[in-house]
Order: sequence, then C-alpha cells, then structure tokens
Amino acid sequence: MKIVLIGSPVLRKKAKPIRKVTSDFVDLAASMEALMKPNGVGLAGPQVGLELAFFIYDVGDGLRLVANPQILDHKGTVTNEEGCLSIPGIWAPIERAEQITLSYLDRSGKRRIREFSGLEARVIQHETDHLQGRLFIDHITDPSTITVEEGSPVAEILAQTIEARAATL
Ligand SMILES: [Zn+2]
Repeated sequence: MKIVLIGSPVLRKKAKPIRKVTSDFVDLAASMEALMKPNGVGLAGPQVGLELAFFIYDVGDGLRLVANPQILDHKGTVTNEEGCLSIPGIWAPIERAEQITLSYLDRSGKRRIREFSGLEARVIQHETDHLQGRLFIDHITDPSTITVEEGSPVAEILAQTIEARAATL
C-alpha cells in the first residue's frame, strides 16, 4: 500500500459507501496509520487507491476511523493553512466551516451524529472532500496564496490543475 499523488484518477472519483465496518477495515486503518503518521493527520481511502468512503485521522488524541460521513450542518468559517499527503510540498490557506455536525459510522460500525470543531472539524471536511473526488486545492481562489516547497514532486501538475480550473471559471 502506498499513498497516491495528485494526477492519479482515483483521487477524482466519488468513493462508494461501505456496507459494513468489519474487522478487515480496522486492520486496514492500522496499515494506513503507518503511512499517515510521519507527516499527516488524516488519510482517506482514495489516497491509498481504494474507492471506498472512509478515512482515518488523528489530531493528537488517538486514531479515529470514519466511514460514510455526511456533513449535516455547519456553522461559521475559519481560514487556516492546509496541506495534503497526496499533494506533497504544497500549502495554502483554506476557508472551512468552523463547526460541523457529522453523521458517520465509527470503527465499531455504529451510526453516530456528533459535532466537531477546530482542527478536527477541518480535517474531517478535508477528508470528506476526498471521498467526493475533491482536493483542498479546489478551494483556492487566489493562486498567489499557495506555498510551494522547493523540490515538490507535484508542483507542475498543481500548476496545470489550477490553470485548467481557472479556465472554467
Ligand atoms: Zn488530503
């Protein structure tokens, strides 16, 4: 298993809902955690090539598994720097809802409805976007706000993506 990068078609597909959260999923989440941990706080199924609607995240208080998420409600807006393991070396300020109400299946397969705020709400919105085939760069309205680290392997494809999007606006 490895993390796929921007340009890979799976990142632009809508992920399929999961029928049941089985123990295989919990094992899968553990393998994904190893890929996520060095540099990231969240990782979605499509980012490891799986067209399945789930993601994992850890904002400092343990690994969470979220399947079939649906944002039911959102409040306020907040802008903060975001990056993505599938778009390495790229950062940009992104506006997100400050607080969300999320319906999802947890790691035991139970349907839950919970409110999230702060970094956790941001990560959930970023990862839920992945399940719709959306990337954080799609939210950028001003390309001059993008930070590109030297040697980023995706700088060129990022520029192409932004250019193509600008042409459709
Ligand atoms: Zn991402």
